[in-house]
Amino acid sequence: MSRLTVEHVSKQYPTRAEPLSVLRDVNLTLHSGQNLAIVGPSGSGKSTLLAVIGTLEPPSSGRVSLDDQDPALLDEPSLAAFRNRHIGFVFQDHYLLPQCSVLENVLVPTVAAGRTTAEALQRARMLLERVGLAHRLDHRPAELSGGERQRAAIARALINKPTLLLADEPTGNLDRASADVVARLLLELQREQQMMLIVVTHSQRLADMMERRMQLENGVLQPL
Ligand code: ADP
Ligand code: MG
Repeated sequence: MSRLTVEHVSKQYPTRAEPLSVLRDVNLTLHSGQNLAIVGPSGSGKSTLLAVIGTLEPPSSGRVSLDDQDPALLDEPSLAAFRNRHIGFVFQDHYLLPQCSVLENVLVPTVAAGRTTAEALQRARMLLERVGLAHRLDHRPAELSGGERQRAAIARALINKPTLLLADEPTGNLDRASADVVARLLLELQREQQMMLIVVTHSQRLADMMERRMQLENGVLQPL
């Protein structure tokens, strides 16, 4: 059973004048198999909160822990390995590598973890089938629709069997039909694999599909 805890997390960015306070005393607990939407207007700190939870940014104060491990105590190479093993990311922009095929893109996180094994290759094919891209393995990202690119990005996020999946406006660039497909896939995969899923979005439609909803306003996170 995995657990994410966020305790009294604040984040300030230094500026030439006063430091900019982006997150203020954020608290949150999530367990395996649970999903959560965080909604809030643009500029409220949603992406910053995901970056702190995803160990891409350290908190200015407070603590994030995943399975009772505090990533802030790790050095940079250990932190990169920790992130690669435990956390999957899906962003608004897919960040697929343009020169690589869909299959190669999904395998990228396994290369970072060492050599690509036959097992990883099999899992990549299974995930791409699961997201409906079995017939697009050799396509480059530019040869896909927006919805297909996001589905490839989901497969990539899941290749290392993360315990925590973080999605930042995953449907922000999609039309409504593709957005619904992507949202349903995220939820189905999260339930099948009993991951923790946090989606930040300003789409009420996407938020309404999640089990739990919280609101971030001016860096303050509250139940909705
Ligand atoms: P959201 O994702 O909700 O739109 P963000 O987390 O991206 O909000 O940004 C929240 C605030 O923090 C914004 O005012 C933004 O300008 C500021 N901000 C974000 N990243 C940085 C940074 N690296 N340095 C300074 N300010 C930042
Ligand atoms: Mg954002």
